[in-house]
Amino acid sequence: TQRTILVTGGAGYIGSHACKAIQRAGYTPVTFDNLETGWAEMVKFGPFEQGELRDRVQLDEVFARWKPTAVMHFAALSQIGEATRDPGKYWSANVGGAVTLLQTMVDHGCLNLVFSSTCATYGDKDGVLLDEDTPQHPINAYGASKRAIEDMIADFGQSFGLNSVIFRYFNVAGADPEAEIGEFHIPETHLIPILLEVASGEREKVTIFGADYPTPDGTCIRDYVHVSDLVEAHLLGLAWLEASKGSRVFCLGSSQGFSVHEVIAKAQEVTGLPIRSEIGPRRGGDAAKLVCGSAAATRVLGWQPKRSTLALMIEDAWRVRQSVRHPAGA
Ligand code: UDP
Repeated sequence: TQRTILVTGGAGYIGSHACKAIQRAGYTPVTFDNLETGWAEMVKFGPFEQGELRDRVQLDEVFARWKPTAVMHFAALSQIGEATRDPGKYWSANVGGAVTLLQTMVDHGCLNLVFSSTCATYGDKDGVLLDEDTPQHPINAYGASKRAIEDMIADFGQSFGLNSVIFRYFNVAGADPEAEIGEFHIPETHLIPILLEVASGEREKVTIFGADYPTPDGTCIRDYVHVSDLVEAHLLGLAWLEASKGSRVFCLGSSQGFSVHEVIAKAQEVTGLPIRSEIGPRRGGDAAKLVCGSAAATRVLGWQPKRSTLALMIEDAWRVRQSVRHPAGA
């Protein structure tokens, strides 16, 4: 029988790419998603269960029906700006959802978890190259909610033998190189898709959130990783869980940072179109620089990013924009 992986947030950007990779690896990905930020149209690679993570009754039904051997937990609210305006929403959805999920897993004897954490758990680290041992001092409710879930996972490991791989993501970008799925947010808040909206004339200009940071050109520096490389790490993490059991944290970065100005320049180069920008005020909750190595993921999991160059990420995202209809019909 095929092994079933429950994919929370499987209708979202990263979750849908994960489902494709999971199916290709010979598992059945069952998507569980409330469609608050995801799209039913992006669930193309396995069954779909629409539901709320905080609804224990519904989760019990889903676990009883599909008997997953592992869970990949992507479902979360993830916008720093919104988290700063409405922290309670983030604590409730992210932490509340994870509490119910972990309790349900344990009660159904499903003890393998791959969890999407974030570099936002680190806070502002003064530009040091981050790694798994860097202390975590989040500066926004999004990062704080994710760190709390990491702590909860450790507790469930101690008390119930929950095995886990925690991935701390950096900035995920790009899209399926075969252009079956992509990144669709309403409203769009992420830098690269916004730049592509400007390039295609759907948006007048991009506002750069602050040019007075202590970085060479004054704009924030981020570490961008291709979504295909990221989901590849998840399959390696799943294999590690099945083979080794235990709990590990891995940072998934490219060791290279790009400033907002640099990303804009590359997007103009890749699309061959002008991208108008203006300097605006800082966005609350932004760190000046977040860049990370991936030595542990390479050493332990054998992770080798293949498409995580800025040019390929923008190219792949651009191709999907031009060939896939936006699920909202826009
Ligand atoms: N950014 C920007 N203008 C925008 C959107 C993003 O200047 O319209 C900057 C943002 O401040 C950050 C970087 O681009 O430094 C990446 O932001 P994004 O929201 O894509 O990802 P995040 O870093 O929040 O995960």
